[in-house]
Amino acid sequence: MSTPLQDRIARQVAQIPRSGIRDFFDLVQGRDDVISLGVGEPDFTAPWHIREAMIYALERGQTTYTSNLGLISLRKSISKYIAGHCGVTYDPAREILVTVGVSEALDLACRALLNPGDEVIYHTPCYVSYSPSIVMAYGVPVVVETRVEDEFVLRADDVAAKITPKTRMLMLNFPTNPTGAVEPLEELEKIAALAVKHDLIVVTDEIYSELTYEGSDGLKPRRHHSIAALPGMKERTILLHGFSKAYAMTGFRLGYACSPPVLTEAMMKIHQYTMLCASIMSQLAGVEALENGAPEVEKMRKSYAQRRNLMLRKFGEMGVPCFPPGGAFYAFPDVRRFGLSSKDFALRLLEEESVAVVPGSAFGTAGEGCVRACYATAIDKLEVALERIGNFVSRLQ
Ligand code: PMP
Repeated sequence: MSTPLQDRIARQVAQIPRSGIRDFFDLVQGRDDVISLGVGEPDFTAPWHIREAMIYALERGQTTYTSNLGLISLRKSISKYIAGHCGVTYDPAREILVTVGVSEALDLACRALLNPGDEVIYHTPCYVSYSPSIVMAYGVPVVVETRVEDEFVLRADDVAAKITPKTRMLMLNFPTNPTGAVEPLEELEKIAALAVKHDLIVVTDEIYSELTYEGSDGLKPRRHHSIAALPGMKERTILLHGFSKAYAMTGFRLGYACSPPVLTEAMMKIHQYTMLCASIMSQLAGVEALENGAPEVEKMRKSYAQRRNLMLRKFGEMGVPCFPPGGAFYAFPDVRRFGLSSKDFALRLLEEESVAVVPGSAFGTAGEGCVRACYATAIDKLEVALERIGNFVSRLQ
């Protein structure tokens, strides 16, 4: 008698849940009436000059593998860009690995550094892939909750309370998906001091760092502070970044990890046997993005800022509390006063008004009570969606 197929699935894989976002969006499939504020993807197409760089690559017949680390021209552009944007310098020859999105880089960081049973501290609500990436690398996820009342600041004291002799790694994401929170520099400094004191490796996912909003209208960008640039941190940090968000290049599947040579080499070993390299056409487009993309990024950021303001104003008018996000393109309004779970709120909003948002619980238990609404959606659609949400909540009052 043969073993049932479900018993063939590796324990590490069997135990991880399907993404709560995907589950929810199966419900939306095939429904044209629905306005989706669900998927975390820019509504812009990648800027034309970046697409053109890929077209030229194909025209020139640049269709080969590249070095496992990625094209040296791209690594040089990344090095220059990160020095300017984050204030920390990486050697293009030995400290930068080009990956298939930040998704792959996260997986590589976990697999290269964790031994079975090693604990990894991360903050929630958070991006859905952190816990599964840790579990698939045989690590133990340890959650630190952040709270809406505290504007989702990650408190160093809360991190300290979770450190044990088994803690090896700390995973950070600022600006944060799904809350839009940006960590205050003073708190980031305290967290860096903890990492040094307890000899932790820090994996910092800074994929939203160009999309920040300062001031009451959010029209100015904020200065980005990377933990990698703080004293004593470069040597214990893996800085992850990519092209999906700021350059609207999700489909190019391009990201990178910057870290000391020993860590880069370890991640590269996994990458060379599993991915070999990121697509050369995408890498050439990445060079163009970094060298000439800044004006387009700023145009898109300003457009997000305007939509963010619209959302905040409308939620305010509806009496739905929503903290002003400092970055990314998500609003994370607090819907607790309506007495529904975040999942029921989202399901009823979908059924009754055909607007899709993601229940906060999909991002960890700390997300319960809120919903994530992505404002990277055309402004006319956003206006209609907000009107429908307004109708829905006025019936719930
Ligand atoms: N990190 C965060 C915080 C994200 O929100 C996302 C995408 N939603 C990713 C990583 C994955 O990005 P990529 O397209 O570079 O794999």
